[in-house]
Amino acid sequence: MEENKNAKCKLHKNNDAVANCIKCGNTYCEVCRDLTGDSGFCLSCEIMRTNAKARYTAEKMTTYLANALAGIIAAVLFWIARFWFDEAGTLGTIATIITAVYGFAAAFFFADALVKNKKAKKTLKNLEQALNSAAENNDFTNDAS
Ligand SMILES: [Zn+2]
Ligand SMILES: [Zn+2]
Repeated sequence: MEENKNAKCKLHKNNDAVANCIKCGNTYCEVCRDLTGDSGFCLSCEIMRTNAKARYTAEKMTTYLANALAGIIAAVLFWIARFWFDEAGTLGTIATIITAVYGFAAAFFFADALVKNKKAKKTLKNLEQALNSAAENNDFTNDAS
């Protein structure tokens, strides 16, 4: 990565650049680096990355929720069938346990995806706010000069 002592942050025009984005190559400063958690991406690329993460976790949530519901509904049905048909007792119990475990495992993964999704959305909001305020500052600087 080339070091240019005079390079300024692409976003914060008054700040010295500390590195180049590993994706788009634009310069970024210390403020940007703190905002992105030193990910190596510039603020714009980090926003795209976080946005993709939010979408991905939202898709996962839908899939896991469907699996959790299917598993738990199946478990309930097997449990009912167990009483309905006496001869299905042991098999019914086994089927109930398997589907219930499946359903609760899926529910756990759903909760995990939910937490990650919430976190990604919150991060995204903060990053977008930082990007907007930096853009506003640039406008202000341009007007003043
Ligand atoms: Zn970038
Ligand atoms: Zn910056």
